[in-house]
Amino acid sequence: MSTTVSRCLKKGIHFLEAARVPEATISAEELLSYVLDRPRFSIYLDSEIEINRQIESEYETLLAKRAGRYPLQYLMRAVQFRHAILEIGEGCLIPRPETEVLAEVVLNCLGVKPLHLLDVGTGSGNIAISLAQERSEWLVTATDISTEALRYAKMNAIRNDVSDRVHFIETDLWHGVNGLVDAIVSNPPYLTDPEFDHLQPEIAFEPRIALHGGTDGFLFYQRMAREAKSILKPDGFIFFEIGAGQANKISHILETNDFCDVQISKDNCGEERIITAQLVNHGSR
Ligand code: GLN
Repeated sequence: MSTTVSRCLKKGIHFLEAARVPEATISAEELLSYVLDRPRFSIYLDSEIEINRQIESEYETLLAKRAGRYPLQYLMRAVQFRHAILEIGEGCLIPRPETEVLAEVVLNCLGVKPLHLLDVGTGSGNIAISLAQERSEWLVTATDISTEALRYAKMNAIRNDVSDRVHFIETDLWHGVNGLVDAIVSNPPYLTDPEFDHLQPEIAFEPRIALHGGTDGFLFYQRMAREAKSILKPDGFIFFEIGAGQANKISHILETNDFCDVQISKDNCGEERIITAQLVNHGSR
């Protein structure tokens, strides 16, 4: 006997609620619209449409994975980040809404003149691709140490029509990259050891190297601030996403490495999330 969209949805919500998945309704709706290949709102408009057994069983398979706290975004294999649609999977960090604010701060601060930017630890390519998409004047070099993440990033640049202005390099930070850039942008790994012990179960499915910033979370800020002069023009800018409570320490790290005019912006939850600074031009380079 076949079932209907509304019956399937109800069953899905109950199943995920019983498994104590947070926001069970959203997951059930998204997964149903994914297997039906229809927008989420249509499952309420077309709620009495019949669903065949094959689609129902595909839905049940995804629900079972979600009940095991597998991330919804990996199950749906795509996310929207600003104007870009990005394909993602286990090899890359799931782009977060707060990182959209990082891109916004960069866009507002740097205006529209032609620039060359460097995105360090690009992951799915979310930041680099958005910046190139929203500023046709900009060139972006994007690096990552993970071959797997870069596979997604390159594919995403092509899908979002910016592969001519975003160049990907597999390396640690920017080692081996030649020339100087106008700005460094990065959402580096910043979670601390204690934070790792209290994560939502979903995050365990994401790459640890994209999340863990050394014992105290500051490892990559320290490395980037210290080495910035090898890649950043005098007067160049740095834009970092930062973790909760890290602003003071990272301001200090930047100031002790010849950065000035440190500014902090909040994300949409009111958390200090973005730090911006400018390299002091000593006029000797
Ligand atoms: N914002 C991510 C989280 O809360 C961490 C991302 C990162 O380490 N850069 O899980």
